[in-house]
Order: sequence, then C-alpha cells, then structure tokens
Amino acid sequence: MTKTAKFVDLLAEGKIEGTVCKQCGAKYFPPRADCAACFSKDMDWFDMPKKGKLETYTIAYYAPYGFEKDCPYTMGVVEYDGGLKLFARLASDLKPEDIKVGMDVSIRPIKYEDGQLSFEIIKA
Ligand SMILES: [Zn+2]
Repeated sequence: MTKTAKFVDLLAEGKIEGTVCKQCGAKYFPPRADCAACFSKDMDWFDMPKKGKLETYTIAYYAPYGFEKDCPYTMGVVEYDGGLKLFARLASDLKPEDIKVGMDVSIRPIKYEDGQLSFEIIKA
C-alpha cells in the first residue's frame, strides 16, 4: 500500500496525519513518501496539530472543473507551530465576516458528494 492510500484510509477514519522524516525531522502535509530536504525514504506518520492560525486566505470566483457549483469558495493557508503550513479550502459554512487572518483554525476530514475524501479548514 502506498503512503497516499494510507492517508485516504486515515481520512476515512477521521484522522488527519502528515509524514515526518526520521532522519532530519522535516514535516510534510499532505504526506510525502520521501523527504524533500534530505531525500530519505525513512518517513513516519504524525497527527496534525489540532490548532493552527489562519495565515492568509483568498476567495476564488472560478473553480476547477467539477467544482463550478461551489463558487465562490475560500482557500486558506494554515500555519502551525514549527513552520508547518497547510493549504486547503475553508468550510463552506464559514461566513466571509467570520474569517479573519490570525484566527485559530483547525482542519477536519470531509467527504464530497462523489465520495471523494478531502479535508477543510474550520474555526477552532
Ligand atoms: Zn529528511
């Protein structure tokens, strides 16, 4: 089984995990099977921190094919302690006036209508 397949299995269980390099400690999310910093393939899984801060966000008025009906939607970057960053969509139930740079956020697994698993940013 590949690392990516395991990531989807974990999402199905409601767990959001990244990978950490056992050699140099670099952390990755979404998970990578090898380390971009030292090229090691000796990777382990770790639970993503429960809370991060919204570093920036942007409202997209054009969506990729298949997501047109979701427009407009908001994408954001979450920054965690240690410099780990995550890029994801913000939950559609978040109102624009509720979204502020620097606010505490969390991520949760979601399932799209077509059954595809992903994750989104929610207010912590
Ligand atoms: Zn490494």
